[in-house]
Amino acid sequence: MDEKILVTRSSMPDIDEYMEEIRPLWDSRWLTNSGVKHQQLEKELCKYLGVTNTALCVNGHQALECILETLDLKGEVITTPFTFVSTTNAIVRRGLTPVFCDINDRDFTIDVTKIESLITDKTCAIMPVHVYGNVCDNDAIEKIAQKYNLKVIYDAAHAFGVRLDGQGVATLGDASMFSFHATKVFHCVEGGAAVFRDDANYTKINYCKSFGMTGPEDLSFTGGNSKMNEFCAAMGLCNLRHIDEAIASRGEAAKRYRERLSNIDGIQLSTQRLDVKSNFAYFPIVVNTEQFGFTRDDIMDELAKNNIGARRYFYPLTSSVASFGGKYSADDTPVAKRISERVMCLPLYEDLSIENVDRICDIILKLKNR
Ligand SMILES: *Cc1c(COP(=O)(O)O)cnc(C)c1O
Repeated sequence: MDEKILVTRSSMPDIDEYMEEIRPLWDSRWLTNSGVKHQQLEKELCKYLGVTNTALCVNGHQALECILETLDLKGEVITTPFTFVSTTNAIVRRGLTPVFCDINDRDFTIDVTKIESLITDKTCAIMPVHVYGNVCDNDAIEKIAQKYNLKVIYDAAHAFGVRLDGQGVATLGDASMFSFHATKVFHCVEGGAAVFRDDANYTKINYCKSFGMTGPEDLSFTGGNSKMNEFCAAMGLCNLRHIDEAIASRGEAAKRYRERLSNIDGIQLSTQRLDVKSNFAYFPIVVNTEQFGFTRDDIMDELAKNNIGARRYFYPLTSSVASFGGKYSADDTPVAKRISERVMCLPLYEDLSIENVDRICDIILKLKNR
């Protein structure tokens, strides 16, 4: 049996590099609560992302909840159901109501032509997702937000390192959330960050991250605990030193997939904006059974038989999960429904070899010709 290939594999720094990074913690015994590593990583991320504030959090999901708490939002939030459940759960857990907007069928981000009809007098924000690292139509979103006085919060969990006309995507909207989970392009084992357009929100989110404490004995509101510890920040410092190589290496694998799978009848690839420099976070394909001859799940099965793990990202839609008990209908977002039934992500990670990309493509193309 050939070597097992999973859909993702964490990038790792050299173990000695990490050991050197954490060694000072044995002397200082300062393990969390905005220690030296935490402060240093926030500073370096500001530089890397091209922004003036970056608030590290224990994970991306908590960063998203803390952003909503910091902006003190109430009412309805327009978002898409074609995402990881975290996006929708954060809205619901903060006592807000998600309103699901459809996606476009080219890069699977929010369909900006369908946002305005969903706006009511209760709408407070738009929360689009840079899904797969594909940048949303930020100009159109910004125009709508200004017209109706809405906040824009990007779920940028997939978009670390993505650049738009040379600018980092973290500069878009009122706030962006990044996930530094082990499976993401850049990671801290677990971690995440919130970036705000307005620096004043950085002070406020630091209170949200730490129980609502505004001083050693002052509690001005009932906050939770979303702080990142020093060991995770140290992992981030190590990984950040190698992020350019990691993205370049992913890019080589993605390029090979694109060469092999473009112009195959029945396989649709995500379009790429010409003004965007990608981070190659994922490689989604949409399988149109009528032309391909087999379903998405047939391809999944065939790959599994060959010891290759692909994933149905994103299926089901977050509006269809059991926890919402049928409150929302996937039929309200027909494009998202169709894509989620046909999409799958092929393995993509830093040290995925071109030989293995070829092995995966061979299996898919052989199936088509069967
Ligand atoms: C990973 C992810 C999150 C949550 O990030 P965590 O760091 O795992 O909490 C949120 N949204 C999307 C789209 C994600 O992929």
